Amino acid sequence: MSVSLVCGFGRAALLTDDGELLTLPTEEARATLRTLGPPILVHAPATFRRLGLKSGAPALDLLELFAFVLPARPVAPTPRGMALALDMDPPKTLEDAAALLPDIARTLLNRLHAGRELKMNAQAAGVAARMGRAGWPWAPLVAKALQSIGEGLDGFRVWRTLPEWEEQPPPPLASSHAVAPAEARTRLAKLLGPHAEQRPGQADYADAATTAFAPREAQGDPHVVLAEAGTGTGKTLGYIAPASLWAERNHGTVWISTFTKLLQRQIDAELMRLHPNPAERRARVVVRKGRENYLCLLNLEDSVTMALSGAGGANLVPLGLIVRWALATADGDLQGGDLPGWFPELFGPMLAGTLADRRGECIFGACGHYKRCFIEHTVRRARTADLVVANHALVMTQAAWQGLDDDTVPTRYVFDEGHHVFEAADSAFASELSGVEGAELRRWLLGAEQTGTSRARGLKRRLDELVVGHSDLEAPLEALLHAARALPGPGWSMRLTDPGGPELGASVAGPKHPFEAFLRAARAQILARLPGDDQPLAYASLESEMFPANPDVEAAAPALARALDRMAEPARTLLTRLEQRMDDEAEEMEPATRARIEAAGRSLRRRCIDPVTIWRAMLGALAEPRPEPGERPAHIYFLRLDRRDGADRDVAFCRHHLDPTQPFAMTLVAPAHGLLITSATLRDASADVEADWDAAEARVGAAHLPTPAIRASVGSPFDYARQTRAFVVNDVSADVAQLAPAYRELFLAAGGGGLGLFTAISRLRAVHARIAPDLEAAGIPLFGQHVDAMDNTTLVDVFRTEEESCLLGTDAMRDGVDVPGRALRLVVFERVPWPRPDILHRERRIHLSGGDTSGYDERIARLRLRQAFGRLIRTATDVGVFVLLDRRTPSRVLSAFPTPVRRVGLAEAVAETRAFLQEKT
Ligand code: SF4
Repeated sequence: MSVSLVCGFGRAALLTDDGELLTLPTEEARATLRTLGPPILVHAPATFRRLGLKSGAPALDLLELFAFVLPARPVAPTPRGMALALDMDPPKTLEDAAALLPDIARTLLNRLHAGRELKMNAQAAGVAARMGRAGWPWAPLVAKALQSIGEGLDGFRVWRTLPEWEEQPPPPLASSHAVAPAEARTRLAKLLGPHAEQRPGQADYADAATTAFAPREAQGDPHVVLAEAGTGTGKTLGYIAPASLWAERNHGTVWISTFTKLLQRQIDAELMRLHPNPAERRARVVVRKGRENYLCLLNLEDSVTMALSGAGGANLVPLGLIVRWALATADGDLQGGDLPGWFPELFGPMLAGTLADRRGECIFGACGHYKRCFIEHTVRRARTADLVVANHALVMTQAAWQGLDDDTVPTRYVFDEGHHVFEAADSAFASELSGVEGAELRRWLLGAEQTGTSRARGLKRRLDELVVGHSDLEAPLEALLHAARALPGPGWSMRLTDPGGPELGASVAGPKHPFEAFLRAARAQILARLPGDDQPLAYASLESEMFPANPDVEAAAPALARALDRMAEPARTLLTRLEQRMDDEAEEMEPATRARIEAAGRSLRRRCIDPVTIWRAMLGALAEPRPEPGERPAHIYFLRLDRRDGADRDVAFCRHHLDPTQPFAMTLVAPAHGLLITSATLRDASADVEADWDAAEARVGAAHLPTPAIRASVGSPFDYARQTRAFVVNDVSADVAQLAPAYRELFLAAGGGGLGLFTAISRLRAVHARIAPDLEAAGIPLFGQHVDAMDNTTLVDVFRTEEESCLLGTDAMRDGVDVPGRALRLVVFERVPWPRPDILHRERRIHLSGGDTSGYDERIARLRLRQAFGRLIRTATDVGVFVLLDRRTPSRVLSAFPTPVRRVGLAEAVAETRAFLQEKT
């Protein structure tokens, strides 16, 4: 076999063909590798980045072999992670790891050989052979393991072998029988089993949650329970108990919503306790995400056809692994499902992106794969499931549109991670008139306008025989497509800074391309309102007020409004006439055609009519009288300029609700029958308990409902005084030159297992660069969000697996990451996480704070600190230290912590961290 390579920071371990094990400084390892063939390694992009080599150098990546042999199986992308996934002894050192790689390869090939008769391997040799011709270095060894040489292409045409779904009659309405607290307790005990860790508050929590499942007594007045469950309560099983009982008893579905895809995965894993049998679980529990997350078989067919014809041959290797995965996947979820998170890291995000229906181009019943489509299958399974695990963004959008892929609007919800309802509602109910959105709509309507760059189909091709020959439908369609040319065209972002571009004429607010003219005028206003003239190009986004608008913006708005009207009118006519056609031909119309027209109508409304109508209303606001300064507005309007890599990428006119929980309450909560909103950090921890509950209700919109929410609270069972220590370090400044050594010394004192949290990516990167080599030399690998070529899910998997490693991250690592045990024993936070002082926050702290603007900021900071502290202790046996490196921390935010906090110098914090962890672990 080839040389094996494992790379740390500043050094690498190499096992040569003749069995010599070398540990070399990075430079030397790089030079040595140049004299050898492609190495065996784990995660080529991450390894090469550490080695300072370009990604894409030839290598035998064991992850690719794993994905071929054991598709859809989880594995952390490190030598240790692979060893654990294959039941092998994990390596302890870099050298052990390098020595293990050939064994991992042999184990995988042996497994493939042993399973060569399995149905899923029937076409594997043909797939591997084509991948081999495209340069896949594992192909010869795979062919040998399969004892077969094949060139058949059927393995790539995986859509032919997937199961078909059967259309079911619509499920009857759910009944409304209540769940008694005693029943919930009994179900919980059953879920936990006889040997479970005793968590006294868990049964009380399950008991309180049952109120959300009581029969509704008045329309528009659901039962809302706000339940705070301290970390360690076991709230997931606590709500699964009454939710599953209600669903079974009433033949209904409870939608469990959480904030991120990672958390969806965690809840799904907990549901194994409810249905250990995989077949039963599949029938009764469904994970739902937006359509853009799933593999679209039509897109896969396009990509495979292109690759096999030679046009996209470079994609044959990842496509070969995708078709292997498609045979094994539970639901075709490309994002956070069973396709490994490291897949896009190995092959680039573009491929996975083109395989999903990202642009709403599904042709539904006209698609040859409709009956095998993963998305359609999941939508149908969700209709009859007991529990659907979704995310806040999806359920809010579904409620706003009265159903997404069908007319499903749930009546019972559990909102886990309820402290994120405010920000999720803020995104879900905000609107944006931007270049990117406009160009997306143009592409959705007109398809690809530049040959060779895209397979986008356009509305005309998608509607095809639904309109051809129906002149009453053809006419509005043509009018709509003609009017769509007012939307930003190909190359629009290059013209943002080029008012005299050939397509546009010389006038900034010229009439030829009203959308682009508006964007340029808006950009000019943003730049004019910035505090200084020399804004660094590295800024990710720049904002300005919309009001008062500059004269150029005011002049450009009416022309754009007229152009949008010219689109909206034929779009509405087309929709009405499509619906009319269903009515007129009700008796003879095929069910498939009816389903297709319904789906086309839904897409037209969501993709075109609704956004155009909202944009039109936003432009209309420019002509309306504005609230006086200090007066409470319903909406906040502002302009945003996005910059990346030194270039202006987009300009957006944004509208947010001042209080986004208002539309949340009106569109989702009020029509429901019952909701449980829960979190470990629903409330602030100030001295005023009543004020904390009021603030919690305001953050989830309960204050907008006719009947007050039921409040429940269960304290954490953990003994924080015994299990934790917390320090504020008072002699380290915010300068990276001081922050970096502070992080290094604390991580060394803990011997790894440290999570470093940052409020800015630039400081995270700077600290990482300074401390990684020293930690590496001490046997502590350091991983970093925005540093390593891995996404967040992969990084957390790696951090969990590599017990001596440390991880640096930003917000996403602060909330919801669940790493129990030794792997996380220290959290170091760079500074108090104050809210970002942007226009949105400024308006909200003025109008939603009840006059206490500082108190409003402090409450947000305390809740974030509580979330961060919550990462530390996940079980009764965990111990850990929390350190805040911000000497300006006001005492008022320290009530966030459930343990006494001491202000100490760095040396003392380091010594105490070392002593405490040595004593307790
Ligand atoms: S039905 Fe739509 S999403 Fe499914 S495979 Fe066909 S085009 Fe793709």
